[in-house]
Amino acid sequence: MSNIKTIVIVGGGITGLSAAYYLQKEIKEKNLPYKLKLVEASDRLGGKIKTTQKNGFTIERGPDSFLSRKQPAVKLAEELGLTDELVRNGTGQSYILVGKKLHKMPSGAFMGIPTQVKPFLFSGMFSVQGKLRAGMDLVLPTGKKINDQSLGGFFRHRFGDELVENLIEPLLSGIYAGDIDKMSLMATFPNFYETQQKHRSLIKGLQKTMPKPKKSTGKKPGMFFSFKNGLETFVKAIEQKLDQDVVSLNTAVDHIEKKEHGYHLLLSNGEAVKADAVIMASPHYTLPKVFSQYDLFNDFNQMPSTSVANVALAFDQSAIKKDIDGTGFVVSRNSDYRITACTWTHKKWPMTTPEGKALVRCYVGKPGDQEVVDLSDEEITEIVLKDLNKTMNITAKPEFSVISRWKNAMPQYTVGHKERVAKVRNEMHHLLPGVFLAGSSFEGIGVPDCIDQGENAVAEALAFLKE
Ligand code: FAD
Repeated sequence: MSNIKTIVIVGGGITGLSAAYYLQKEIKEKNLPYKLKLVEASDRLGGKIKTTQKNGFTIERGPDSFLSRKQPAVKLAEELGLTDELVRNGTGQSYILVGKKLHKMPSGAFMGIPTQVKPFLFSGMFSVQGKLRAGMDLVLPTGKKINDQSLGGFFRHRFGDELVENLIEPLLSGIYAGDIDKMSLMATFPNFYETQQKHRSLIKGLQKTMPKPKKSTGKKPGMFFSFKNGLETFVKAIEQKLDQDVVSLNTAVDHIEKKEHGYHLLLSNGEAVKADAVIMASPHYTLPKVFSQYDLFNDFNQMPSTSVANVALAFDQSAIKKDIDGTGFVVSRNSDYRITACTWTHKKWPMTTPEGKALVRCYVGKPGDQEVVDLSDEEITEIVLKDLNKTMNITAKPEFSVISRWKNAMPQYTVGHKERVAKVRNEMHHLLPGVFLAGSSFEGIGVPDCIDQGENAVAEALAFLKE
C-alpha cells in the first residue's frame, strides 16, 4: 500500500488556486509524502476572475482589482514573481448619483461615513434635517452589545436614513450587491461596530483611529491593484506553477462519501478519487448537494446569492460629447436608474484602453431588480446607454460591448452569517474530519480574502494529516 496521502481541492477559482499553489509549495519545500489534485467543474481555471482582450482593450468580466492594503494578494503576487506587473488605479474625483444629479463624494468620507464635518455640511447631497440627523452620531449613547445586527440597522440608528440611503448604501452594496438591511454587520464590517463600541461615536472613533493622510503635494496613490494585462494574470501565473497532473478541468465533484479511512469523491466523468483530506473551495450551495447524506450544510440552502451583470462599452473618445472629470459614480437606490455603478475604466485603469478610445463599465442587478440580468444583450445595452445619457452625452453607438452575467454569484452574508459558518465548521470537525471550507461564501468575498482562506485551508489540511 502506498504511503502517499492525497489532498483534493474542489474548485479552481482564486481560492482553490491559491490553496493549490501554497500546498504544492509546502509539499516540495518540506518533501512531504502528499499528492495534490485540483478538480474544476468548468472548462477553465479562475472562476469569477476572467479577463477578455479585444481590439486592444482589456476587459474584466468579473473583479477588476483588489485592495492594495490587504496583504494576502500582494504577497501571492510577489511569490509568483508578478510584482513588476502590478498597476495601481488612477485616482480622480468619484461621484454619487442622487436623484438626477451627480454629487462629488464628500472628502473625508470613509465608506460613506463622515470623518470631516465641513465637506458634509457643504454637500448638496443631503437636506438640513439629514445633516442634523447624521450629526446625532456625535451624541447618541453607545448602546447595548449585540452579537450581530444588520448593516442598515446599525447605520440608520447612528446617522439616520438619508445618509445611509444616499451615501453609505450605494458604496457598501457596490461591494456585496446586497440588501444593506439584511446584511450582517459582524460578517462584513465588524471594525465599525468595535470602533463605535469603544469610542461611542463612530465619527469620533474613525477620526481617532484612521491613519492621518500624509502631507504631500503629489497625487494620492490609488488604493487598488490590478495587473498590466488584467487580473487573470494571477490565474495564468498559478496555472503555470502547478505540476502538469494536478488540475482536472471539466470535472465536477458530484458526491463525497466518507469511508473508514478518508473520503471517496465521485466525479462527473464517472471516476472516483480517494482523498485523505479535502479542501472545498466551491460556492456554499454545492455543499448540501455533494454531502447530501448529511444535514449539517442545510443552512447553506437558505443562504442567498444575488445576480449581477456588468456591461463594458467601448467607444471612440469622440463619441462622448459630455464627459465627466472623474473615475466613476455609484447610484443611490432612491434614484430612478437601473445601473448601480459606472466606472470610466479608461481613466481609472488607463492600460486597459487604446489611445483615443473610451471604455465605460457599468453594473446592473440589485435586490429588487434581478430580472435585468436575464434580458438580452441588446436590451441591457439600451438600458445602460439610456441611463448614461442622463448625465453624459454619448452620441454614437458603442464600437462593441461585452456583457458578463453573474447569476447567483454574489454570496450574501446575512445577519448571523458568522455564527452559522462557525456552527457548520464545528460539526464538520466531528462528522467530516479532514474536510475544510474556503472561499467567497464564508469569510470574505474580496480576492485577498479568498487567497487568505485558500492558504489557511492548506495549513488546516496539513495539520490534520500530521495528526
Ligand atoms: P469562484 O471564483 O466562484 O470559484 C469557484 C469554482 O468552483 C468555480 O470555478 C466553479 O466552476 C467551481 N465549482 C463549483 N462547483 C464545483 C464542483 N461541484 N466540482 C468542482 N468544481 C466546482 N472582489 C474583489 O476583490 N475586487 C473586485 O473588484 C471584485 N469584483 C467582483 C465583480 C463581480 C462581477 C463578481 C461576481 C465578484 C467580484 N469580486 C471582487 C469578488 C471576487 O471576485 C470573488 O469573491 C472571488 O473571485 C471568488 O473566488 P472563489 O475561488 O472563492 O470562487
